[in-house]
Amino acid sequence: MRNKNILFHKTHIGQEEIDAVVEAMKSGWVTMGPKTIEFERVFSEYIFKNTDNQILLNTDFLHSVSCNSATAALHLALKAIGLKKDDEVILPTNTFIATAEVVGYFDAKPVLCDVEYDTHNIDCSKIEALITPKTKAIMPVHFAGQPCDMDKIIQIAKKHNIKIIEDAAHALPSKYKGQLVGQIGDITCFSFYATKTLSTGEGGMAVTKNPDFAKSMRINRLHGISRDAWDRYTSKGSWFYEVVDNGYKYNTTDLNSALGIVQLKKLEWMKEQREKIANRYNEAFEKIDHVVTPFIKEDRETSWHLYVIKVSNRNEFIENLKKEGVNASVHFIPVHKQPYYKNKYNYQDSDYPVANKVYEESVSLPIYPDLSEDDLEYIIEKVIKYAK
Ligand SMILES: *Cc1c(COP(=O)(O)O)cnc(C)c1O
Repeated sequence: MRNKNILFHKTHIGQEEIDAVVEAMKSGWVTMGPKTIEFERVFSEYIFKNTDNQILLNTDFLHSVSCNSATAALHLALKAIGLKKDDEVILPTNTFIATAEVVGYFDAKPVLCDVEYDTHNIDCSKIEALITPKTKAIMPVHFAGQPCDMDKIIQIAKKHNIKIIEDAAHALPSKYKGQLVGQIGDITCFSFYATKTLSTGEGGMAVTKNPDFAKSMRINRLHGISRDAWDRYTSKGSWFYEVVDNGYKYNTTDLNSALGIVQLKKLEWMKEQREKIANRYNEAFEKIDHVVTPFIKEDRETSWHLYVIKVSNRNEFIENLKKEGVNASVHFIPVHKQPYYKNKYNYQDSDYPVANKVYEESVSLPIYPDLSEDDLEYIIEKVIKYAK
């Protein structure tokens, strides 16, 4: 069946998802409660089950802290590592604004790094030149689901004693040298926004092996409230609590978590569906000179969150697809081009030549489990017709 208007993205929602949310509503507990605790537990198990790394066989080493967005998770992560005013954090300019925005929350500075032309990921060879005594962290973004060069980033972070906070909004599930993203950096943040590979409507998860970071994030996602004294001195259900930090209202709800539990079970299946689509696109565009297909490095496994091609007539190309009923998108308008950021931090366009070129040529094509085969073939036909 061919749709007249092919959406750029459609969240996969089956009867199981609907039933789970209805059940959560009927349980009488709609805000953060037992379903959220269960979602955090199965998420930790998912991340550890997919590894050969024996250290993680005990899930106590891996903490999942659920939040109402990845932006909230990234904010809590930076607070957990103690980011302060005037500190600096290095991140790629090719990202969604949230990665830079959370640094601004601290009156710290997002220091932008150029990207690689082939993967669109942070160019690790350009990171060290950006490090100053004020640098506290690197935030790699695994663009479209392909992990960054983590060995190089770890080496740089160790040498300069800085933390790694991964923006893994695209990278569930993705692997770097056989290791699942979520086990690598100091803290890894996933997004469950409507368009992401697992969706709870809105939501996010911060994962860490560090119990102190986990504790800080748990306390600060709910007003800085600590239940330690409550657990120690009183019976469960007491009215007593202590506020030990200047926290936020970043908790999720059991309705969202019920959705997340079902979606997590379908994660591998949904990935396989996207992979099939990516393989078909690759095969179809291989011989088309003016379509540059995604380049995946040999030691990586991408989640295929996005399928991004490069063409030389990008704007006209997207307009033509739109006229034919195919909705494409662009990821991302670089941070250094956004007016607020450009003015505030005085970024110079000429400092990011590769990101500028990537931006000018990039087009994200539809890739999601519910995309029909007829629609896929139709998109391919139109891409070949209009790409230059
Ligand atoms: C979607 C996205 C985010 C933000 O996720 P939310 O859950 O909407 O806050 C952050 N970084 C990147 C790279 C994203 O694509």
